[in-house]
Amino acid sequence: MLQTKKISSVELTQTFLARIAQHNPSINAYIALDEAKSLAQAKAADALIAAGKASPLTGIPIAQKDIFCAKDWPTTCGSKMLANFVAPYDAHVITQFDAVGAVNLGKTNMDEFAMGSSNETSYFGGVKNPWDVERVPGGSSGGSAAAVAARLCAAATGTDTGGSIRQPASLCGFSGLKPTYGVVSRYGMIAFASSLDQAGPMAKSAEDCALMMNVMAGFDERDSTSLNREKEDYTRDLAKPLQGLRVGLPKEFFAEGLDASVGKVIDEAIAAYKKLGAEIVEISLPNTGLSIPVYYVLAPAEASSNLSRYDGVRYGHRTAEYTDLMDMYCKSRAEGFGAEVKRRILIGTYVLSAGYYDAYYLKAQQIRRLIAQDFVEAFKHCDVIMGPAAPSTAFKAGEKVDDPVAMYLQDIYTISTNLAGLPGMSVPAGFSNGLPVGLQIIGNYFDEARMLNVAHQYQQVTDWHLKMPQGIE
Ligand code: GLN
Repeated sequence: MLQTKKISSVELTQTFLARIAQHNPSINAYIALDEAKSLAQAKAADALIAAGKASPLTGIPIAQKDIFCAKDWPTTCGSKMLANFVAPYDAHVITQFDAVGAVNLGKTNMDEFAMGSSNETSYFGGVKNPWDVERVPGGSSGGSAAAVAARLCAAATGTDTGGSIRQPASLCGFSGLKPTYGVVSRYGMIAFASSLDQAGPMAKSAEDCALMMNVMAGFDERDSTSLNREKEDYTRDLAKPLQGLRVGLPKEFFAEGLDASVGKVIDEAIAAYKKLGAEIVEISLPNTGLSIPVYYVLAPAEASSNLSRYDGVRYGHRTAEYTDLMDMYCKSRAEGFGAEVKRRILIGTYVLSAGYYDAYYLKAQQIRRLIAQDFVEAFKHCDVIMGPAAPSTAFKAGEKVDDPVAMYLQDIYTISTNLAGLPGMSVPAGFSNGLPVGLQIIGNYFDEARMLNVAHQYQQVTDWHLKMPQGIE
């Protein structure tokens, strides 16, 4: 519609802003909005379109997870620690969207420092799942997830350290992709666990994810783990038929712990792939059961180091009264961080301490290698791996907050790909008791274009990705 001038970017942005004004008070997906800024970008986009300089995302309103620094926007990472922080520079991802004339529609709510699976650790309050407001949207990218599901943006960004794009995509019924580690620059993306963090698109369809990837991916010398590869067109393979595609089903993903009704939806999705010409191969990821314990050694270890920068001195929360420097550090951090973040810092400093380093941190690194090796072996027998993205549908708010281990198990099917650095996505595959279920597609390194093709072909013969929650039309 933008291309054919049926609508302008200003009108489109206004439409979304009106929807946000109507629905955000009950959903709490956005924690920062700036109409004037968004509309100024929309106006500039309209000028680009008029001048014939538009690309696919020019003038498209995108919600940005509040983990990305965006110049002159509040950037809080869901924490009291950064509640007063206004970013003085743009993250690479933000720069990329600006460069194509996309509109920043606002910053979205998230679990504090991206630690969580329900968005309940946010200093700014929980986010409601648009499919059932008593339930969580998943996390940590819960605000972006609810915004996409409730059509409060055209698409959104998220980050995925252990599942934070894919698990909310599953719980809210949209398409989300975590790229291969190193494909999207982490510059200006607030660090949680640097060897696992990766940004990716959250959108209605696989095709939209591909268009988002075309903007987000690319080399950036300011991130030392950014990969210098040739620019790709992620839409290039969307139309390819799936005849002969080898789909690996890891037996460990269909064992105990998977909700039976979720399993049924996944089985039906696999059957649809068979009809599309795919060949099913049984595979095994023998060490995948260790991924949660390994992750909860490594991610907190990295987090404890990354979060040491929040000392109340240079920026962020500083306590009002203190006696000396040490007292200021202690009080600022005690007041600025929430309970889950403190738990991670405690675990992280513990596993890195001299007496325990070999027993925990080093051991976890060794098992991480074994988990990655499982995938190398598996991809000798298949082109993509499929399974559930999350073990259950959206759960009730408050249900798991007092049981961290139950919460951690939400990522049982997603974490191993982060540990291996592999790309993974979740696509809507159906419903259980009226709640969305996501099918996970895991690809080999740099195989995003094929995964998007695999998802897109499924979306040509199903309409799960087009379903909308009721009451928000
Ligand atoms: N739920 C996981 C955690 O709490 C993963 C979060 C994420 O991917 N950012 O650490």
